[in-house]
Amino acid sequence: MSEPDCLFCKIIAGEVPSEKVYEDDAVYAFRDINPKAKVHVLVVPRRHLANVAELAEADPQLLAHMVGVARSIADESFHGDYRLIFNSGRDAGQTVFHVHAHVLTGEVLDE
Ligand code: 5GP
Ligand code: ZN
Repeated sequence: MSEPDCLFCKIIAGEVPSEKVYEDDAVYAFRDINPKAKVHVLVVPRRHLANVAELAEADPQLLAHMVGVARSIADESFHGDYRLIFNSGRDAGQTVFHVHAHVLTGEVLDE
């Protein structure tokens, strides 16, 4: 269920290098190449779906799993509170149309 032209499908397949933080059968998590906070990790389901609404409809358990993985990453990486962001749609800043959760520390660096 991967899309040939999708950057995150390529990252999951190892065709594009990434700095892995966590993986299991359902998700892959890696460091954002352009971090917007001290810690900025992307949690991506292996299954290609375009956005969080599509994911919620197709596989709500997978969405819940991603939220749990995000919390674990925050616990292990910075023992603190965290932001969990899903940009949905071009006008909201989504640039990669394979659903991903941004996990960030609370402070946000300048763009
Ligand atoms: P979006 O803007 O779609 O919500 O988030 C896409 C994110 O992917 C951005 O924060 C961007 O920095 C990150 N990104 C884009 N290309 C790459 C890449 O090749 N490797 C990694 N690790 N992150 C990327
Ligand atoms: Zn994809």
